[in-house]
Amino acid sequence: DFRPAGRLGSIGVSEILKIGAAAARLKREGRPVIVLGAGEPDFDTPDNVKQAAEQAIRAGKTKYPPLEGTPELKAAIVEKFRRENGLSYAPDEVTVSSGAKAILYNAFMASLDPGDEVILAAPYWTTYADIVRIAGGTPVDVVCREENGFRLAAEDLERAITPRTRWLLLNSPSNPSGAAYSEANLRPITEVLLRHPHVWLMSDDIYEHLVYDGLAFVTAAQIEPSLKARTLTVNGVSKAYAMTGWRIGYAGGPKSLIAAMAVVQSQISMACSVSQAAAVEALNGPQEILAERRLAFQARRDLVVDALNAIDGITCRKPEGAFYTFASCAGLIGRRAPDGTLIDSDAAFCRYLLEQHDVAVVPGSCFGLAPYFRISYAASEDSLREACAHITRACEILS
Ligand code: PLP
Repeated sequence: DFRPAGRLGSIGVSEILKIGAAAARLKREGRPVIVLGAGEPDFDTPDNVKQAAEQAIRAGKTKYPPLEGTPELKAAIVEKFRRENGLSYAPDEVTVSSGAKAILYNAFMASLDPGDEVILAAPYWTTYADIVRIAGGTPVDVVCREENGFRLAAEDLERAITPRTRWLLLNSPSNPSGAAYSEANLRPITEVLLRHPHVWLMSDDIYEHLVYDGLAFVTAAQIEPSLKARTLTVNGVSKAYAMTGWRIGYAGGPKSLIAAMAVVQSQISMACSVSQAAAVEALNGPQEILAERRLAFQARRDLVVDALNAIDGITCRKPEGAFYTFASCAGLIGRRAPDGTLIDSDAAFCRYLLEQHDVAVVPGSCFGLAPYFRISYAASEDSLREACAHITRACEILS
């Protein structure tokens, strides 16, 4: 029998993918399941970006690209960080990988020794903890309470830091909570880090362009330049430009770290040459699409938040960014469905929604905070309205 490596421990295929598979199975059986589980914009990749890829293919940009990214893409990234974040990186301080996920993987593989700790702000994207474990490190969860807007409290961070802490990973706007940090929210965190010079900061800014109500996006190295020498600023084109399948992520950070990440990447794979050409166009080309899509997402957020808050037993904070709502279902725990099914957890509630009401959403327990559930509102307003009607009905018949 196959014996998996010990380093995989209890890491399995992500719960989110399992829910997606269960929803797909029900769909194949003919059920009209509305899937609000995926972390993927429903929009299409912009045409100018597709054209850039076609041109790259015709121009023969089909050979092995440089290990850390093509000069054109690295230049576009340097310019992006300057233009949008006020950050100045040299070309050897930026790197390109097959998605921001691969950036995170390379960074943790390059930096963690057994026993090294990485502080994660729960609820968080579960991938973080799994990569840390695969890399031999120890994830340390710090809960971000809803009363604090699902943001990390400075005193909680301070308490979690030990001599073994290697990284704090911050994700603003957040998957799954949608919480984002204004400069005033971020300042107490950077102040704690200034007092602990051995702790590095990984700032996952992948949802940067999805912030609402006029909130100004900020990243840590921008508001606290003295942290830049120990900060990895992570970003990518997946969410902003609806390019999840192209697999391009990038980061800016100190040269020594970027070089160590290249060592890891050199034994996996560099990013696809054609996708890199497409990403150059995404970053350098017209940017109007960002504002258009931001407005569309904001309207969807409002639709979902209002519908959820009208349901007895559910409360939903209005998130500042990303395309997720993270609603509490605490008020439903202990109720029963007409067939006797007991809703005793957020996972049970999500199973009930999927199996009996044809809506796929993800329990908060998947992200380290219960009892909540995450809705991805990267879907048409019609299907969001229908899904909310299903959820409303599902809750009404609980007793
Ligand atoms: N970071 C967060 C918080 C995400 O939610 C995701 C995707 O779901 C990523 C990073 C990875 O994006 P990609 O690997 O497509 O660049």
